[in-house]
Amino acid sequence: MIRCISCDAKYDDDEIIYTCKECGSILEVIQTPSVSKEVFSNRKNTMWKYKEFLPVNSDKRVSLEEGATPFCKCDKIGKELGVDLYVKVEGSNPTGSFKDRGMSVGVTKAMELGVNMVGCASTGNTSASLAAYAARAGLKCIVLLPSGKVALGKLAQAMFHGAKVLGINGNFDEALETVTQLALDGELYLLNSINPYRLEGQKTIGFEIVDDLGWQSPDRIILPVGNAGNISAIWKGIKEFNQAGFIDDIPMMTGIQAVNAAPIANAIKQGKTEVTPVKDPDTIATAIRIGAPVSSTKAMRAIQESNGTAETVTDDEILDAQKYLARTEGIGVEPASAASIAGLKKLVENGEIDKNERVVCIVTGHLLKDPNTAIEACTQPTEIDSDAEAIKKILKTL
Ligand SMILES: *Cc1c(COP(=O)(O)O)cnc(C)c1O
Ligand SMILES: [Zn+2]
Repeated sequence: MIRCISCDAKYDDDEIIYTCKECGSILEVIQTPSVSKEVFSNRKNTMWKYKEFLPVNSDKRVSLEEGATPFCKCDKIGKELGVDLYVKVEGSNPTGSFKDRGMSVGVTKAMELGVNMVGCASTGNTSASLAAYAARAGLKCIVLLPSGKVALGKLAQAMFHGAKVLGINGNFDEALETVTQLALDGELYLLNSINPYRLEGQKTIGFEIVDDLGWQSPDRIILPVGNAGNISAIWKGIKEFNQAGFIDDIPMMTGIQAVNAAPIANAIKQGKTEVTPVKDPDTIATAIRIGAPVSSTKAMRAIQESNGTAETVTDDEILDAQKYLARTEGIGVEPASAASIAGLKKLVENGEIDKNERVVCIVTGHLLKDPNTAIEACTQPTEIDSDAEAIKKILKTL
């Protein structure tokens, strides 16, 4: 069943609906699985091992075996910051971001509904992922991207998997408004995170963290926040495992935004319950360059109910954290993902995170998504003859 998060109105599973007809608010999927956690352990390790919690027919799933991403203990950074740190590496998903989890469930739902065209607006990763899953399902796919503001790797993926790619003169928020209009006019099935089935897939990040920790909750989960679907999804997953009796504690949900694209962090810092959109959002972390987060109501609830928080970081802090993670722990992530590490560092410095907290940082997308930013951040290769003696001189300087 689908339920409005504000007025509790209910809708059937086979209705194509994105917002409440009664009050205009966003929706969520509810189901009440009854299963013991022991059933998960003998299954192939993909996010579909939690299939009882996924509200589609798993026998007909459109899947690239997403999920089951690395959960790396990061002792070097952890020691330096005085926390017990784990990093959940979502760049290891099939198209290189957590969006694959949402698309697997979302595109499976599209097939159940019998649509033939899917679409989205995207800062990049949503389009890369949808293009791949639409290809696997044999669906037509159209994606609207803010022209000139999409990282190279993501654009390559969307085009190469065969989506019709439109570069919109405008930002993500405007592209989303337009594609939503197309969906409401019945032209396509919308697979942005306003679609509650997307979040059903993404909640498996929360499941895996708990599973990875031996059926325990961490003290805190930190992640970058753009359209705010993912923080809402992970919180939903945590709550479902809590209600199922798999964990007793819950983590403090902690969202990080870029300082010039921070409507949610601003609201939290100002003690407000309403989120005021940011007009011209800007950051080098293009995946979170969003001014009017669609899931802000859900995200604010996640933060408040979990006694979490939100913080802002500058582009310089993001780029420093990206390099720090790559060079200290060997984990390569795109800029938006590094916001979680930058946020962790800042919250520790501000004294908002206690010493020895068990923290999980989610790094959302792979380094190779945005090769230009990575290359610009480095000294370029030294041109030299293939001559051992000459290279020995360089080795001495290292
Ligand atoms: C989509 C995305 C985000 C933001 O997630 P939201 O659900 O929009 O808050 C962060 N990082 C990366 C790499 C993404 O692709
Ligand atoms: Zn409603």
